[in-house]
Amino acid sequence: MAAKPFASSADTDAKEQTLEVLADGVYALTAEGDPNVGAIEGEDFVVAFEALATPTAAREWLAKLREHTDKPVRYLVLSHYHAVRVLGASAFDATVILTHEKTHELIRERGEQDWASEFGRMPRLAKDADSVPGLTWPTQTFADRTTIDLGGDRGELVLEYFGRGHTEGDIVAWLPKQRILFAGDLVEAQAALYTGDAFHKDWAGATLDRVKALQAEMLVGGRGAVSRGREEVDAAIEQTRDFLKVMIREVGAVHERGGTLKEAFENTHAALVDGYGHWPIFEHCLPFDVSRLWDEFSGIERPVIWTAERDREVWDLLQG
Ligand SMILES: [Zn+2]
Repeated sequence: MAAKPFASSADTDAKEQTLEVLADGVYALTAEGDPNVGAIEGEDFVVAFEALATPTAAREWLAKLREHTDKPVRYLVLSHYHAVRVLGASAFDATVILTHEKTHELIRERGEQDWASEFGRMPRLAKDADSVPGLTWPTQTFADRTTIDLGGDRGELVLEYFGRGHTEGDIVAWLPKQRILFAGDLVEAQAALYTGDAFHKDWAGATLDRVKALQAEMLVGGRGAVSRGREEVDAAIEQTRDFLKVMIREVGAVHERGGTLKEAFENTHAALVDGYGHWPIFEHCLPFDVSRLWDEFSGIERPVIWTAERDREVWDLLQG
C-alpha cells in the first residue's frame, strides 16, 4: 500500500461555507467539516465565538456576518487554544478576548509549536498564513463560569468549563433562553475527533455528561453540521462519546497485554473505520489521537507538545 500523504496536506479543495441563522441574532458558520464559528448579537455589540486560522479567513467570515449586523465585536470568545481556531483573532478588533485560564497557560506553554504543527497538518486552513500577526493572547480569563448580559430581552450568554476534554481548557458557550449551545471541539457532529491533546477518560465521562445535562435544543459542534432538536443534539454527543470509548477500549487492550503503539493504531483503525472512516479528517487525526491515548495509558498526565517534527515521526510510524 502506498504511504498516505501527511495529515491533511493533500486536502486542497475549498469547502463551502454556510451562514445559518439559528435564532434571532444567533449565527453559525459551518463548512462541510472545516472548523465552525459562531456569533451572538447583544443589544449594541456582537460576541464572536472562535476566530478561524488567520485574519484573512476571519475577514471572509465577518463579511458574511456583516450582511446581518453591523454591531461592533465587543467580545471574542475562544473555546480552546488550537491554532486553527484562534490565530485569526486580530481581524475582529474585539475589546475583550475571553478564554479559560488554562487556555491562556497553554498558549504560553505551547502556542508557538501548535501554530507550526497545525499549519503544517492543514495548510488549506492557513489561508494567507502571513496575515497572522503573532500568537493570540486572551485579555480576560475565568476558571469555572462567567456570563455576558446581552441586553434588552436577549438573555445572557453563559461561558462554562466542564472539566478536561478535547484539551485542558475547553469551554462551551450556552444561551439558556434560546437553548442553543456552541460546544467547540468537545462535540463533533459527523466529523472525526481530534484527540491529540485530550484527556480521553475525563472527556468520555463527566465532561460530556455535563454537556448533555444542558439539554440543548440546538448544538453547534467544532466541525460538522448544526444539530437541531433534542434527538440530534444527543446523537452528536453520544457519537463523540462512542468514538472515545472505542478508542479507550482498543488502545487499552493492546497496552494492557504489552503490545505496541502500532498495533494499538491498527486495532483502533479497524474498530472505527466502518462507522467513522468516511468522515472529515479521520485518517488525518487517528495517528495523533492514538499516540496521545497511548501516552495516557502509559501514565503521561499531560499531552506531550506536538511539534512539526514529532508530527512527522508519529505519522511515518503509524500511517507511513
Ligand atoms: Zn481543537
